[in-house]
Amino acid sequence: MADKFKKISPYLLNFIGCSLVVSVIFYAIGVLILLDKPIEAPSADYSAPEITLLGDSHITIYTGDSYDDPGAISDTTVFASGQVDATRPGDYLVSYVTADSAGNIATASRVVTVLSRNTGVIYLTFDDGPSAYTAELLDVLAKYNVKATFFVTNAGSDEMIAREYNEGHAIGLHSCTHDYSYIYTSVDNFFSDLYCVQNRVKNITGYTSYLMRFPGGSSNLVSSRYDGGTRIMSTLVREVEARGFTYFDWNITSGDAGGTTSSDGVYRNVINQVYRDGKSVVLQHDIKSFSVAAVERIIQWGLANGFTFDKLSADSFTAHHGVNN
Ligand SMILES: [Zn+2]
Repeated sequence: MADKFKKISPYLLNFIGCSLVVSVIFYAIGVLILLDKPIEAPSADYSAPEITLLGDSHITIYTGDSYDDPGAISDTTVFASGQVDATRPGDYLVSYVTADSAGNIATASRVVTVLSRNTGVIYLTFDDGPSAYTAELLDVLAKYNVKATFFVTNAGSDEMIAREYNEGHAIGLHSCTHDYSYIYTSVDNFFSDLYCVQNRVKNITGYTSYLMRFPGGSSNLVSSRYDGGTRIMSTLVREVEARGFTYFDWNITSGDAGGTTSSDGVYRNVINQVYRDGKSVVLQHDIKSFSVAAVERIIQWGLANGFTFDKLSADSFTAHHGVNN
């Protein structure tokens, strides 16, 4: 037996072994085919493609601005619809849609608000300075390239008046003494005080200003306490003009002379009262730190809402109050 067995070639054994393995494999394949087991289908694609809005979902522009839609992006083509008519105020909806090869869609949209452009002009005016706060105020005005008007007195540093002038602001005259009991006692007293401040400005800047604002405004009644019943304001408004001056009152009160003691209050008083499409002469005092502190927000609000800022000049709107004495 042992001899017989040895006669079987190892090549033959290998051949038999390999044949068995191949047979098992073919058998297994056959079983699989017979069972016809379905191959699991890939899961259905129900997920929407990504779509990303470029720019804000709410954009505000003003009539007359040009509108360039920032669009939206996706891996597949994005189609936009909706027109913005920048000449007509209103809310406009711009929609974006995209679809993938499986038919899933994605949408995005934005609202574009077209606002009427305010045509209002704001004249910021500051009385009673200069003061320790004037430098800070000038810095803010310079930051936004806004020109203002300063009705100055004999107070504060010459350097600040020089800065006001050199930085392009209007220098108006208010009073040397700001003492009602002196200036409203007589026409002579009034003009001696007015020429005093005119000379101060001229000595510092070389500029002779003929822009002025009466202490207390042209409508003041305080003058009646000191004028001996002469109704001095009626004389003064004529006389300043006869001498070549232009006087200005105001039509927006910031409240910083008494009604308000906070920057928030000054800010709200101004933005709630300014004329959207008219001329606003705002009265503030640069001797009040809280009032100066409100100026940056007032400017930011005004610029964001389409207003322009300007300084007063001899041919500007004068916001005259009318004389009561
Ligand atoms: Zn004053």
